[in-house]
Amino acid sequence: MPAVADILIPLALDTAYSYAVPPGLTLAAGDVVQVPLGPRETIGVVWGVEERASGGNLRPVTGRIEAPPLSDPLRKLVDWLARYTLAPKGSALAMALRLPDEAAQRETSRIGVRASGRPASRPTTARGKVLAVAADGAVRGKSALAKEAGVSLSVVDGLIDDGALEAVALVPEPVALPPDPDHPRVPLSEAQAEAARNLIAPPSPSPAETGGTILLEGVTGSGKTEVYFEAVAECVREGRQALVLMPEIALTAQFLDRFAGRFGVRPATWHSGIGGKRRERIRAGVASGDVSVVVGARSALFLPFAKLGLIVVDEEHESAYKQEDGVHYHARDMAVVRGRFERCPVVLASATPSIESLVNAQSGRYRHVSLPGRFGGRPLPDITAIDMRLDKPEIGRFLSPPMVNAVKATLAQGEQALLFLNRRGYAPLTLCRACGHRYQCRNCSTWLVEHRFRRALVCHQCGYAQPKPEACTECGAFDHLTPCGPGVERIAEEATALFPDKRIVVLSSDFPGGAERLRQELETVAAGECDIVIGTQLVAKGHNFPHLTLVGVLDADIGLTTGDPRAAERTFQLLQQVTGRAGRGERPGRALVQTYQPNHPVIAALLSGDAERFYEEEIGAREAAGLPPFGRLAALIVSGEEREKAEAHGQALARAADPPPGVMVLGPAEAPLALVRGRWRFRLLVKTERGIDVQSYLRDWLARGPKPRGNLKVAIDVDPQSFL
Ligand code: ADP
Ligand code: ZN
Repeated sequence: MPAVADILIPLALDTAYSYAVPPGLTLAAGDVVQVPLGPRETIGVVWGVEERASGGNLRPVTGRIEAPPLSDPLRKLVDWLARYTLAPKGSALAMALRLPDEAAQRETSRIGVRASGRPASRPTTARGKVLAVAADGAVRGKSALAKEAGVSLSVVDGLIDDGALEAVALVPEPVALPPDPDHPRVPLSEAQAEAARNLIAPPSPSPAETGGTILLEGVTGSGKTEVYFEAVAECVREGRQALVLMPEIALTAQFLDRFAGRFGVRPATWHSGIGGKRRERIRAGVASGDVSVVVGARSALFLPFAKLGLIVVDEEHESAYKQEDGVHYHARDMAVVRGRFERCPVVLASATPSIESLVNAQSGRYRHVSLPGRFGGRPLPDITAIDMRLDKPEIGRFLSPPMVNAVKATLAQGEQALLFLNRRGYAPLTLCRACGHRYQCRNCSTWLVEHRFRRALVCHQCGYAQPKPEACTECGAFDHLTPCGPGVERIAEEATALFPDKRIVVLSSDFPGGAERLRQELETVAAGECDIVIGTQLVAKGHNFPHLTLVGVLDADIGLTTGDPRAAERTFQLLQQVTGRAGRGERPGRALVQTYQPNHPVIAALLSGDAERFYEEEIGAREAAGLPPFGRLAALIVSGEEREKAEAHGQALARAADPPPGVMVLGPAEAPLALVRGRWRFRLLVKTERGIDVQSYLRDWLARGPKPRGNLKVAIDVDPQSFL
C-alpha cells in the first residue's frame, strides 16, 4: 500500500494536509519537506506517516529539505502549545521552524585562497607580490590577501582564473566551543553547595529520570546563578544539553563573561538580534548535539535540541516571557511543558517568584530550593520611604530634598547612584496652558510623550511621532506648551542641574543605537564609568552593578493603580528587584523610595523587607477573588477600524457566550488602550474556576459565535498578563 504523509505547514492553518509519499522517498515524522500548496511550493513538517489507500488523488511530496528534523518532544510541544493557546497549529509550528530567510540564503559561505603550486602564466609585478605573500601555503580571505600584498582584488581574481591560486571554502568557526564543566571555579558557600546538590541530586525520584520543576528562590545576590551553573555543569558532564532562558535584555556580555568564568568559554546565544547564517548554524549545532549550552531569549525554547537535559528559566517572574502578539504564549510555562516532554528538569530562578510558581512550590507540585541571604553575608539594602506629602520637591522638580542629599553623599564617597523611574522620554503629557489642548496620538488613545532628545512627541504604542510644535497647533499660542510630569530625560535634566560635573547616563529601551549599544552602555555602568544612572525597568533586570550603593525610586506608586490583577505583585517584584541592585559589591547599599502612600500594603511590605508576609497576603487575596492560579482567565480582544463594528462584534460574541456553571464572561468593555494603530479595541474576559477546561469552552464558544468579517479581528489570550 502506498504511504500517505500528514504534513503540517507553518502558516495560520490548524490541520495537517495529506500528501502521497512518492516511491523511493522514505519519510519519518519530524522530517522537513517541500510540498505543493495551491499554485506554489512551500515547506512543511511531516506530522505522521501511514500506509493507507490514498484514493489516488493526493498530490505527492516534492522532497525532503536539508534541515534538522523536529524531534518528537518538539512536535508534542507544538501540538500542546496550539491546543493551549488556541493558536493555529501551523502558527505554533512556525516558531519552531524559523527557516533561513532569503538574506541568509544569499549569504555565501566564505571562500579563501591559497597558492596552488603552479606558476602564473603571465607574471607581473602585482601578481608577484601576491604569490610572494601566498608562498607560505596558508589559506587567506581574498580581500585579506589582496590587502596584504598591497594590490587590488582583481589581481587576486586573475590569479585564481589563471590557476596559480586555488579557492578553498573556509571552515567556519564553530558557533560555540564546548564548555568545560570542571573548569576551576570559585568555591561555593555551604548554603550554595547544599542548594546545588539539591538541584542536581534531589531526593528520589530523580528529576533526571522523571523531569520535574524546581523553584530556585533566593534574594538578589544570593548566588542563584552560581548554583544553577552547577546544574548546567552536571548536565554537560552527562553529555546532555542545557538551555538557559533569560529576558532578552538581561543577555549581557557581563553574563556571558560570567558563564565563561565558570565554563572557560562563552555559550552559544540566541536572541532576536542573531540573524541569517548564524541562526542556521546554531540550529544545526543544537540539532546535532555539538552545541551543548544555549543561553537565549524566549524563542530559544523552540530550538531543535537533540538531547535536552536541563532548562533554566532565569528571572522566571518576568512578564517579558509572555509573547503578546501572534501566538500568545508564556515561555516560562512552555518551558515547563517542554521539560515534561523531554523528561528533563526545569529550574525556575527568581528573587521574587511569580505567585503562580510560588503556589506550585507550596503545594508540592514544584520542588522548592531556597538560598538564604546574600552571598558572603552582604546585607540587603536598607529601604526607607520618603513621604512626598511631607518632603515636597521644589516646584517643577521631582527629586525631594532627602533624595538630593542622599545622592550627594553617595557621590562624595565615590560611589554610584541609580535613580529609577519607569517612564521613558521627557514628559508623559504635553498640555497647552492657553487652551487646554492635550497632545494625543492620531492612531491610538494615548498621550504623546515628549522626547526632548529627539525633539518630538512620540506615541509609545504605535511609534507615531511628530515634531514638537513651536506654538499650540489648536489655538496658536506661543510659549504655552507645558510638559506635565516626568520621564527619565526630565530627571536627567534635573540631575544635570544639581550635579553639573558628574557623569550621568540615561538607560531605557529606546536608547539611541539599539540593543547592542545599550548592552555596551550597561557594561560601562558596571565598570563604574559613570556616577548617576537614570533608568527605567530595564536597569532593574538582573544586572550586577558593583559600584552602586544608592537606589532612589522616584515614583513607587506608579504601577499600583492600573486595575491589573497582578498590579500589587508586579510593583512589589519591580521595586524589590530595583532596590536589590544596591550594595551588590564590596560596600553596603541603601534604597530610598519616594511615595505618596507609605502605608500601602505593597510599599509597607517593601520597607519592612518582609517578602514572605507580602506573598502570604497576596496569595490569600488571589484565592479569595478566584484569580490565578486559583481560577483561570482568558481574554478575547476584538479589534477593528470602525469603533461601532468592533463593539457590536464584541456584544454579539457576548450574547453567544452561554457560559456553563463555573464560567463567567465579562464585557465587552472598551480596552484601557481603546485605540491602537488605528484599530479600536474591546475586551471580553473569561473567568473560570480552576478545574474548568477553558480551552474547550473557548473553542465551542468561538465555533458557535459570530465570525469576524472585514477588518475585524479577534485575538485570544489565555492566561493574559496584560490587561491593556
Ligand atoms: P543572584 O543570581 O542570586 O542575584 P549571583 O549568582 O549573581 O546572585 O551572585 C551575586 C554576586 O555574588 C556575584 O557577583 C557573584 O559573582 C558573587 N558570588 C556568588 N556566589 C559566590 C561564591 N561562592 N564565591 C564568590 N563570589 C560569589
Ligand atoms: Zn499611537
